[in-house]
Parts: sequence; C-alpha cells; structure tokens
Amino acid sequence: MDRDGLDTLIDERVRYTVQYAEEHSPFYRHWFRENRIRPGDIRVHEDLLELPLISGRTIRENQPPGTPAFQFLSSPWEDVFTIQETSGTSGTPKSFFLTWDDWKRYAEKYARSFVSQGFGAGDRTIVCASYGMNVGANTMTLAAQRLGMTIVPFGRCDFASRVLSAYRPTAIVGSVFKFLRLARRLEAEGLHPRGTSLERLVVGGESFADESRAHLSRVFGVPVYNTYGSTEGTMCGECSEQAGLHVPEDLVHLDIYDPQMRTFVADGNCGRGVLTTLLPVGAKAGTLLLNYDTEDDTAVFSRQPCACGRTHMRIYNPRREAETLWILGSAVNRVDVEGCVFQPANLPSITGEYEAFVSDGATPGSVVMQVSMECADPEKVDFQTIGERFTEHFLRTSRGLTTSYDEELFRLVFRFVREGELDIHHLKGRAKRLVDRRAI
Ligand SMILES: [Zn+2]
Repeated sequence: MDRDGLDTLIDERVRYTVQYAEEHSPFYRHWFRENRIRPGDIRVHEDLLELPLISGRTIRENQPPGTPAFQFLSSPWEDVFTIQETSGTSGTPKSFFLTWDDWKRYAEKYARSFVSQGFGAGDRTIVCASYGMNVGANTMTLAAQRLGMTIVPFGRCDFASRVLSAYRPTAIVGSVFKFLRLARRLEAEGLHPRGTSLERLVVGGESFADESRAHLSRVFGVPVYNTYGSTEGTMCGECSEQAGLHVPEDLVHLDIYDPQMRTFVADGNCGRGVLTTLLPVGAKAGTLLLNYDTEDDTAVFSRQPCACGRTHMRIYNPRREAETLWILGSAVNRVDVEGCVFQPANLPSITGEYEAFVSDGATPGSVVMQVSMECADPEKVDFQTIGERFTEHFLRTSRGLTTSYDEELFRLVFRFVREGELDIHHLKGRAKRLVDRRAI
C-alpha cells in the first residue's frame, strides 16, 4: 500500500480504536475524562502526539491488587481466549487479555515478518523461545500454520544434535547466545555449524550488537534476522534487506518520545518507542493500548519504501532502557559493551560470553568497569591485545568517556575466565550482563 493509502487506513483505525477504548476500556474511559480529552477530537494519528503517555507501571497500578478489577480488560470474558503475562522482571507481571481476533492479528504480524525473511511453505523451524505466558512463541506457531511452515516447538535450546540431522530444519528462532552455545555444542560433537541444513536464524526478544550478529552469521554461514516482539503487541521484523525493522503500521502505530525533552521527536532522533494498538474497524480487543511507553529506545530508520518492496516504515534495532547505565555523564548500553566483546579479531580466542560490572573506583568520583570474558583456553589467549581492542572500540562508541579515561577517572579492567565460570551461568532467569554495583 502506498503511503497515502496507508495513512488513510491508519487514521481510520485510530478513530475506531479510540472509540472502542471509550466504549470498552474502563481505564481509557476514565483517562479521557481525567485528561479532558474528547475521544471524538482524535481524528488522525498526529492527534495522538497531544495525548499523555502511559507506561507499564500504569498497567500494574490498574490491575489487582492495585484495583479490584482489571481496568485494561476491554472485552467480556466470553470473548477472552487467553490471558498472557509479561515476564515480570521489573515488578508484578502485567496481564494481557487476548481475544481470538487478537491472536490472529499477532500471528499476522509474525507471518509477515517470516515471509519478509524468505520463509514459506515447507520450511521447518525449531522455536527456541518460551511457550509459557509470553505470547511470542505461541503466535509464531500460529503464523507458521498460515504459511504452511512446520514448527518444532522445543521452547528451550537444548535439543539433541540428532534433531538437526533427523528433521533437517531450515531455521531456528532463538537468541544470539543460545545460538553461540548451540554452535559450541555441535563443534564439541564433531559437527560443523556451517554444515547443517539451516538456511537462516531468527533472533528475537533482545537487542544485540551488529558485531555479534555478524559473528553469528559467520559461525553458521547463514543470514541472521532480527525480530522485536512483545506481549504488548509490537511485532517488528527485519526483512531480507536487513535495513531496519519493518513496523506493521496498519496494526500498531509507533511514535518516538524523548523523556528528557518531554516531547515527541522528529524522524531520525533517538527516543523511546511509544505504541498505540490499531484495530481494524469492527474488531474486538481484549487489551488495547494508546500511547504506551515501551521503555525501549529506538529511532525511525526510514519511511521510504524499502528495497524489498514493502512500504511500512522501518526502525533501528530497539535497545532496552533498563540495560542502559549512566557512567560519568555518558549513557552506556549493554549492546555497546557487547559490540566491543565481539570485535572480529578477538574471536575465536574468546567465546563471546561476557559480563560487565560497573563499580566505584578507589578515588572519589572515579568509576571502574570490569569486563569478564570467557575463553576456551585461557593459556593461549593474548589478554593484552584483546583488552586494547576492547578499549579502543569502547572509547570510539562512548566518546563522552574519553576525557575521563585519559584522566583515569574511568578505568576498564579485564578478566578472562574458563567456560562456565561467569556469574551469569549461575543465576536463574534472565540475568543481566551489564550490572551496576555503584553505591547510590
Ligand atoms: Zn524491507
């Protein structure tokens, strides 16, 4: 659809979604009144820029035990097909109610993403993503049904290597580190990761450095595609061009907001992704969101048609704000650190597994970042050179820290350990790789 047609469709869905929210969502009915918003005044997507934001905290405060009922529940129980919850890493899990229509729309987004990555009938895909309360793996599976794809729903990435030779899968959905561990496991069994039937890998649920993707792609000898999905309903996927992630603009509207400036920003500027559910006219939704702050940082990559032929806008790989630390006035994200670990010349002396701890230095006001990297054989590693490469790349990406580094207010310390010796391997759940240990 061309841009004009798409904008017309988006605006029609903005009007219907706002009307649906007023009629069916106790939270939004109250929110409109409290903020003196007349739902009928919201006519086009630009009108959303005038409205306040809500966040994950708003959802948590408007569900039990915060309120007696689920204020975001926007359809009668007989229409609710499933209840999903977010992982709850930052507090009580948020509850999401999905109608069968919601399921079909979520699956539609994944189906488009798969198609844009070259998937089709006959593809056999191992899904190494949680089939629990998160919606991702389940809706991918539903998407596969529409495309004639076969899903092998392992959930965990610990399947035996016989699975690869028996089913000859063409793809795996997982994460960068799951794939790197799989590659090491295959190599330990004498199998070559490049010698499998795999044609592509899909990474979801986390941001990553370009360097780690490039490494993964070299290890398996196949393209690695990115998807950005959440229970809230963003499902953006990279197409075969690997030039930004396409936003399914007819089903979710995305704006970029700068929390420091307290305003929405123009294309190209970085800020938090703010999403609004878009419902097709006549559709029902169990939970819908208007101006929801995802707390993930991104920027618009382009609104021009993509070389793949799709017209949906593209965004940069979002980064989690929760993974950003401020060090002496500079923002450092886990992905920045990861990009330094995955410097091509450092691999394969190191496995890519790492963790970084930021702590107070010996002198007042100074900060130390200790980076631990795992290596197969510490006896054979040129520690000095790896450290130098890391430092050089780090100061290039985090220029704001150069002066502090020269003045020894900021120090980088490296530690090299054997496989399995990082703290992260001994922690349950999604462990953080960049940890702040400074006194407040
Ligand atoms: Zn494209």
